[in-house]
Amino acid sequence: MLTVESLKVTYGSIRAVSRLDLSLGKGRVAALLGANGAGKSSTMRAIGGLLRPSGGRVVFDGTDITGMPAHRVARLGLALVPEGRMVVGCLTVQENLDLSAYARGRRRTALVDEVYDLFPRLAERRRQTAALMSGGEQQMLAIGRALMTAPSLLLLDEPSMGLSPALVDTVFAAISAIRATGMTMLLVEQNAALAFPLADHACLIQRGEIVAEGTPEELEKDPATIARHLGIEDEPRVKESS
Ligand code: ATP
Repeated sequence: MLTVESLKVTYGSIRAVSRLDLSLGKGRVAALLGANGAGKSSTMRAIGGLLRPSGGRVVFDGTDITGMPAHRVARLGLALVPEGRMVVGCLTVQENLDLSAYARGRRRTALVDEVYDLFPRLAERRRQTAALMSGGEQQMLAIGRALMTAPSLLLLDEPSMGLSPALVDTVFAAISAIRATGMTMLLVEQNAALAFPLADHACLIQRGEIVAEGTPEELEKDPATIARHLGIEDEPRVKESS
């Protein structure tokens, strides 16, 4: 469903991503893990059409989308939930969701009920201005907005960022429910303990390159490597045994 070959992203003289390869099959979930500045968001933005890669190729569902602008990529069924959420602050929850559906050429659809089922908090606050919502609620809205486009591939850029532990649990329970519907996902995280239970495959990225990859079970066998690449000095945040 998604193939990324030798992806390169540069900002002037700064090389953020170099020669990154990634392959994601339908219904699979891949996690991209790395420390601050590793190049995770740049990779996501290049795949989602928010920036033009300086090299390499991105193929989505058989279509070469390299350098294609975000609105066209979205029409093909790829939805990016960007880092920082980027909800429209002056609009209500409902208007944010409607806007997303309209952008895909749809009127309000049954999808909105699915979003409200997934996030009852959004249903309660459907008339609230998005800017007045908490960070966790805005994250729910950003995910809901992506779902309103009926995507076949969902890119989630650090959905846990800045959230309280309780809201992280809520957001990840929803992501787990989305996964259970068979959605293909690429998930960026710094927290392996959150990403591993959801992922079929995980890649550790450092200085714009994949430095280790495998199933979460394979990577968990070497917690020191995870810690080193995530910039953690103490115990790595990997799945706790129950
Ligand atoms: P974080 O987890 O902190 O968001 P990240 O892994 O997503 O980090 P990126 O945001 O992709 O990393 O950044 C990769 C590198 O590119 C960093 O060195 C960063 O400073 C640089 N960079 C990112 N955006 C820009 C920009 N707009 N202009 C210049 N340099 C940038």
